[in-house]
Amino acid sequence: MESTRPKIGVYICHCGINIAGVVDVEAVTEYASKLPGVVVSRNYSYMCSDPGQTLIKDDIREKGLNRVIVASCSPRMHEPTFRKALAETGLNPYYLEMANIREQCSWVHEDKAKATEKAEKLVEAAVAKVLLLEALEEKEVDVTPACLVIGGGIAGIQAALDIAEAGFKVYLVEKTPSVGGHMAQLDKTFPTLDCSACILTPKMVDVANHPNIELMTYSQVESVEGYVGNFKATVRKKARYVDFDKCTGCGICAENCRLLNRIPSEFDEGIGMRSAIYLPFPQAVPAKYTIDPERCLQLTKGKCGKEGPACKASCQADAVNFDQKDELLEIDVGTIIVATGYDVFDAKRKHEYGYAENPNVMTGLEFERLVSASGPTGGKIIVGRDKKGEGGFEPKKIAFIHCVGSRDKSLGNEYCSRVCCMYLAKQAHLIKDKLPDAEVTVFYMDVRAFGKGFEEFYDRVRREGIRYIRGNPSEIYKKGDDHALIVKVEDTLLGTPMEYEADLVVLGVGLEPRQDVREIIDLFKLSQSTDGFFLEAHPKLRPVDTASDGIFLAGCCQGPKDIPDTVAQAKGAASSALTLIARGKVKVEAQVSAVNADECRGCGLCVEVCPFGAIELVETNRQGNIVNVASVNEALCKGCGSCASACLSGAIQPKSFKDEQILPQIAVLGVRTE
Ligand SMILES: Cc1cc2nc3c(=O)[nH]c(=O)nc-3n(C[C@H](O)[C@H](O)[C@H](O)COP(=O)(O)OP(=O)(O)OC[C@H]3O[C@@H](n4cnc5c(N)ncnc54)[C@H](O)[C@@H]3O)c2cc1C
Repeated sequence: MESTRPKIGVYICHCGINIAGVVDVEAVTEYASKLPGVVVSRNYSYMCSDPGQTLIKDDIREKGLNRVIVASCSPRMHEPTFRKALAETGLNPYYLEMANIREQCSWVHEDKAKATEKAEKLVEAAVAKVLLLEALEEKEVDVTPACLVIGGGIAGIQAALDIAEAGFKVYLVEKTPSVGGHMAQLDKTFPTLDCSACILTPKMVDVANHPNIELMTYSQVESVEGYVGNFKATVRKKARYVDFDKCTGCGICAENCRLLNRIPSEFDEGIGMRSAIYLPFPQAVPAKYTIDPERCLQLTKGKCGKEGPACKASCQADAVNFDQKDELLEIDVGTIIVATGYDVFDAKRKHEYGYAENPNVMTGLEFERLVSASGPTGGKIIVGRDKKGEGGFEPKKIAFIHCVGSRDKSLGNEYCSRVCCMYLAKQAHLIKDKLPDAEVTVFYMDVRAFGKGFEEFYDRVRREGIRYIRGNPSEIYKKGDDHALIVKVEDTLLGTPMEYEADLVVLGVGLEPRQDVREIIDLFKLSQSTDGFFLEAHPKLRPVDTASDGIFLAGCCQGPKDIPDTVAQAKGAASSALTLIARGKVKVEAQVSAVNADECRGCGLCVEVCPFGAIELVETNRQGNIVNVASVNEALCKGCGSCASACLSGAIQPKSFKDEQILPQIAVLGVRTE
């Protein structure tokens, strides 16, 4: 630890009235001025402002300060600001200590005298530590000029295109056989009613053709190693059992498949059927067929018909290849964008709405496929068809139900899904458009029409004769043998219970984190917010960053949002990734953990607890004996201190938070440490 003649400057921030409204900042300034080593103590309305920082910088230069304490907000907020101010004067930025007298004092106390006393103690504790701080050096690492984008929905597509257009390499990895995500399943889009496929398909084609984008569909990231600027990912390209280069996308194979139209189509949400060899939807990109390994008779039973697989026999391009194997590919990238999207709420969990029992109760996403011109009915609104897709009728009375699986604590989803109010309004409009005589009623809790053009669209829909009734149905059940359904509800504006008879009920299912969200969390060490979606680094100031440097979020994987917001966020994530790639170098954390190799017992506990995978055991020669000791990868370490709390011998400690630095601080606060 360095010994130096103390010349400490203490700067107390008012933060407007955030701090000064509760803490007597003059008293704290006076108190600090008498502490050992303090040569100047000042207070100012906003220390983070330009004049505030200038105060500090002038004092460093004029009074020769060698340590600085800023008593203000949380270091998470402005530590980088003040470090930069120190660096500008030539003082090592790590000679700064912050005392949090806002979040940990003025915001949580009301008694002015006691809050002031606590602020004084916090400043005194900072003084006890500041002289023990060491000068740290910030290092830089090179950034591989490439980005890995995971998820080929509109978020991933947009992010990939922006980065590729800037001239950098992108690997776009999509789990399913085609890019497009949920947007490809939609018919028209609110509030402008543009045809979803018409605006999405050109972008899908662009990602497939862009010289800077390597599109990897039907692929998944298996592992990721490394750190910001230098990630190495292993991608599994699953076998399609169809030669990608030979397949012309003609579709003759699917027409000859023995399971022709016998398998529920994922793209059509099960209301349409596909074969075992299939193209997910007509505009799929790439337009290459895939064999479903879990359904194909040849792959599951080793035999398909007497004459062998008809798909293979009928393929004139000889593209079907049952011997194809998965491929593992390694890619090096500097940044990663996670854009893995959402799942819709499983309506079966809302038992009282009878979704599992009544085919004429459908989800909003199923309705999108029903109404879509590329859907199984060619866009005709016909329900009650048999398994072969025959029969059925045009519904005359249709009910739409809001908030199914959103804003519902009993189902564990307290949040609003943000798109359902508007997509139900859109769907109600589409019914009126196609079946003008139909009676359409929407049951709602309240209508959230917050976006650009949303309120106007909602207004338009009501003027079209669509009835909005305020009430959350308690039950939906079938009336006798008839196809009629009863929606039991109370009109909460009139206070009257009612039973509404409908022949089609559409559930406004909410958006949920994907079922397989855990895989991505484990791969990229991401965190979840309480709603289960991925957690951003800061909800306001760093909405596309994650706690892992170089990894960004885009689209609904971060939380429910509509297409415009998804695209905006994808552009934000792309520009954040580009900033790193274009600069070519990135600074890595200086306050990392350091190992005292002589003290380390090589037990590996630190390796187990490190959330960033930054520690490994390496062999070293200790007085002629080869022993294992912990070694920290400084580019990966975030200085969180988990290792230090687990280490039994105290051999690993984060710089600036070593025992000898924080114990004197704790002693001032009068906290027992034994
Ligand atoms: C019924 C309904 C109607 C809607 N209507 C509208 C509308 O009219 N207007 C509007 O603005 N918004 C609408 N939305 C919202 C819209 O669907 C979303 O805003 C948009 O699809 C979000 O795109 P995304 O890319 O974030 O996610 P997604 O569309 O979910 O795409 C995510 C992609 O990532 C892939 N993926 C997932 N995990 C992995 C993995 N591990 N590896 C590789 N790939 C992976 C998925 O296969 C998918 O292709 C509607 C939503 C619903 C449910």
